[in-house]
Amino acid sequence: MKQALLLLILSLGVLQLHAAPQQAIPNRRPLEPNAFNPLPLTAVKPDGWLLQQLRIQAKGLSGHLDEFWPDLGPNSGWLGGTGESWERGPYFLDGLVPLAYLTGDPALIAKVKKWMDWTLDHQQPDGGIGPAKNRDWWPNYVMLKALMQYQEASGDPRVVPLMQKYFAYQAKRLDERPLKEWAIFRWHDEVLSIIWLYNHTGDRSLLELARKLHAQGHDWEAQFVDFSFKEKATKANANLASHGVNNAMALKAAAVWWLITGDRKDRENLYRMLRALDEYHGQPEGVFGADEHYAGRDPSQGTELCAVVESMFSLESDLAILGDPMFGDRLEKIAYNALPGTFSPDMWAHQYDQQANQVICSLADRRWTTNGPDSNIFGVEPNFGCCTANMHQGWPKFAANLWMATPDRGLAAVAYGPSEVRTVVGDGVSVKVTEETEYPFRETINLSIDPAKPAKFTLELRIPAWADGPTVAVNGASLGGVRAGQFYSLNREWKAGDRLSLRFPMLVRNSTWYNKSIAVERGPLVYSLKIGESWHKSKQTGPAADWEVYPTTPWNYALVIDKESGSFQVAEKPVGTQPFSVDGAPVEIRAKARRLPEWQIEHECAGPLPLSPVVSKQPLEAVPLIPYGAAKLRITAFPYTPQ
Ligand SMILES: [Zn+2]
Repeated sequence: MKQALLLLILSLGVLQLHAAPQQAIPNRRPLEPNAFNPLPLTAVKPDGWLLQQLRIQAKGLSGHLDEFWPDLGPNSGWLGGTGESWERGPYFLDGLVPLAYLTGDPALIAKVKKWMDWTLDHQQPDGGIGPAKNRDWWPNYVMLKALMQYQEASGDPRVVPLMQKYFAYQAKRLDERPLKEWAIFRWHDEVLSIIWLYNHTGDRSLLELARKLHAQGHDWEAQFVDFSFKEKATKANANLASHGVNNAMALKAAAVWWLITGDRKDRENLYRMLRALDEYHGQPEGVFGADEHYAGRDPSQGTELCAVVESMFSLESDLAILGDPMFGDRLEKIAYNALPGTFSPDMWAHQYDQQANQVICSLADRRWTTNGPDSNIFGVEPNFGCCTANMHQGWPKFAANLWMATPDRGLAAVAYGPSEVRTVVGDGVSVKVTEETEYPFRETINLSIDPAKPAKFTLELRIPAWADGPTVAVNGASLGGVRAGQFYSLNREWKAGDRLSLRFPMLVRNSTWYNKSIAVERGPLVYSLKIGESWHKSKQTGPAADWEVYPTTPWNYALVIDKESGSFQVAEKPVGTQPFSVDGAPVEIRAKARRLPEWQIEHECAGPLPLSPVVSKQPLEAVPLIPYGAAKLRITAFPYTPQ
């Protein structure tokens, strides 16, 4: 009964949020203005298949991990216990908070409340937060990110005063207790929280604290002005500067710092970093090779799940700060490929390291820079539990950032997926925009604009760079000047019932990767060879399990790229309840291929990728390609043969 009452109160809280749309808070001077201002959590809600994906996540490990994983159990230091008191509680919350509020799941919201209440009710007298035995600044960075999201979704009045007191305490202590280890390399994530609070309060001493963190932190910009990690790292030269997750988080450092300095060079240095990571470590699914440390471009090397979700959060931040549509293209590439590709379809199991060419997931030594033999199996805690705690933020933060506010109080569609946004635009008019689409599996997006009364405001639409002949129509009338790789801006009076139809034609295209291999891309999706999968349970942990995955069909194919006749045939299937599964893939591409018998398994991976073009005398075959995210075994970087 008590629980039922609690659920009722929580549900009313959720309804309340629907009634009062929230506005974005712009940067205060002297900060530089964002190109787009992020909307408060719950202003954007997922819908359609994307909501279903968040529900899969909530029914999987994310919704149940704390019920059986000791590091998030009742003995967590972040719940007042004597157990894990470092990063795992905060990591979990950084994803659980948006997952709970975007699904509106009362049981998850109750879990969020329990954790948040402990931190909010147990601030130390000097201003410190979290378990008293933790002396590392780093886990608090993460808790601050969770607290901000929680404040936006719940309006809890305790959050802002707690953060004010905490930052004042840290400012006093930083000289005697400076940043160490991880905290040195991740300073920019705390600066985001400082900026958030500054925009709420206007307290200028906060900007001094930001400068202090920067001064004690790692100089990421300098690292890429003279970039020395051009190859796969070795055990001997690996350090916190070559660490994959640190780099993924640092993909926002220069942009965040530019908000404070206004120096052009900071903006340029962000692009320099992205270019270097792509050139020396880029992988076709949108991330860089980082099987703990820089791993080069070989598609049999891996990328850690923490680096995937942190790259996404960095790109969401970059997109807001700098407004370059390229960040939206990259964000979608990672969200729609690398993210789902490293989870089991039911999201009860994940990998530590995923590979672009992933032909066996098993307990075996591989050529990772430093990771262990269980790094590419699907499980609860493969290799190390950081990803187990940190992976939850990927989908919900992506959904929350599909829409942002423009500086002139309009709306920007910065990434696409089925969703609904409610906020206040123009001169204070409430608006709801509904985005109906099966993107990224389909090329059409329909927007319904529903302002409370006719209102003039800007609508900015990101036109993906890959779109071939993109079109935008308002109430059936096509508009001119729509160009790929730009934002398309519409400033006009909108009234209830206005409809926009966007079409981003998706041609099959090839991109070039390691050893002149090619990847097949169409729209934001990367396509991989569909390989028969045999899943073998290797361990049971409570309601979850670890799985090895073995191939049941051949994988050693070269694609036949015949420029004359076109090599690919696209077939659409319904978008079902698990689009990111081998049987539920909503799009399949038939490609021409020939086997390459000399390409064999080595070190439990697809062996060295032959330099293309290659020659094969094997028979011509038609092979199925499915989205990378659906193919848990796959070849993505293919050798190719001209005939
Ligand atoms: Zn991790």
